Amino acid sequence: MNEKIIVWLCVLGIMYSCGSHKGKRVEGNPWSSYDVGRVEFKNLSPETDGAKLYAKIVSNPEQFIQECARQVLNTLYFSPKDSIPKIELITYILKSYNGISEKSGTPPAITIAYSTDWIEKSYKDDMEALILENRGVLWHELTHGFQLEPQGIGTYGTNKTFWAFIEGMADAVRYVNGGFTLADRPKGGHYMDGYRTTGFFLAWLMQTKDSDFLRKFNNSTLHVIPWSFKEAIRYSLGEEYDIDTLWEEYLVAMGDK
Ligand SMILES: [Zn+2]
Repeated sequence: MNEKIIVWLCVLGIMYSCGSHKGKRVEGNPWSSYDVGRVEFKNLSPETDGAKLYAKIVSNPEQFIQECARQVLNTLYFSPKDSIPKIELITYILKSYNGISEKSGTPPAITIAYSTDWIEKSYKDDMEALILENRGVLWHELTHGFQLEPQGIGTYGTNKTFWAFIEGMADAVRYVNGGFTLADRPKGGHYMDGYRTTGFFLAWLMQTKDSDFLRKFNNSTLHVIPWSFKEAIRYSLGEEYDIDTLWEEYLVAMGDK
């Protein structure tokens, strides 16, 4: 294990402990009074083992989801004064289906579904793992609700860069809040691969180049039009930074090369 990885693990340890000790949050947290929207919780498959497990790990879904939403906002934005998509209603649906979780709708009303089948699959007689998976998946989906989107390059369904940004950011937010460990990091690949491959790279940029990187990268969508990874990196870190060079540096730092 090289020095960089050890430092990285320490940073993560600190972040994780902050994220998981809600009672110790510093007073004056600008997000504590921010209205993240009303949460309507619907349990459509109460007879399933998955729904019963969910009830064991989340006693107050409305409060839990709002708390996770504030953690997402704090990761994506500098302050409540930023330009933030206004969500008034989060409908959260627990139901049996063949999948994991998905967000639908756009602000002011979004819906997040979570599969009781997936809860059963991810349990494996380990309550801690179940809690972490639930929180991690929720951070990912809530990011989709609150994140800004690239402009001038098409849509999620038509443009790979758009898609890679959206899914990469969601997994980056999940990771830096403690929803993944380094063991979940895919080796190699390309920053355009989306999800964890992009997400761990973006998190590494935050941890090694600029602690506000994710906030600036999210914000880049308002200023870099048409949006691209190349220009958004320059916007977020400075003109001298090149994404392909950074990607190579990341692979070497992580021991992939
Ligand atoms: Zn996603």
